[in-house]
Amino acid sequence: MIRAVFLDRDGVINRLNMGSYVTKWEDFEFLDGVKDAIKELAASDLKIILITNQSAINRGLMTEYELEVIHEHMLDAIREAGGRIDSIYFCPHAPHEECTCRKPEPGMFDRAIEFHDIDVSKSWFIGDFESDEEAAARVGLKFKLAEGDGGLRRAVDEILTES
Ligand SMILES: [Mg+2]
Ligand SMILES: [Zn+2]
Repeated sequence: MIRAVFLDRDGVINRLNMGSYVTKWEDFEFLDGVKDAIKELAASDLKIILITNQSAINRGLMTEYELEVIHEHMLDAIREAGGRIDSIYFCPHAPHEECTCRKPEPGMFDRAIEFHDIDVSKSWFIGDFESDEEAAARVGLKFKLAEGDGGLRRAVDEILTES
């Protein structure tokens, strides 16, 4: 079975601007240390999977195609720095739709775990919200909090030390 690190996006990879959405690449700002942290992860045997709520899609603020364009730019920048992300799962739904994938619901994790045959007991989720910790607990993943500049770097260093 595969071990994995699940990463939240907003607030972990890119700077969170409360009350506004990233709807174009120009809005996307990598937090300090993120590209180095992902490069370190990429040198381990851990799969790297992004899990992100993107309700801006069903709120009509961004199309799925526009999200893909943002993610292509993000992946290019990560690859240029020597890292990789193996899969991206996003939830397009708004809270009122009561879907089964919007974190802290486990739907995106369940799909990834089944597809990649992941051993949850040896895997982590890194997020920046209490609801991320709740999601990790529901799925059975270990949790690390990462917030702001340097946050992901610290979380990854801890994981690589523990694993
Ligand atoms: Mg977040
Ligand atoms: Zn959803």
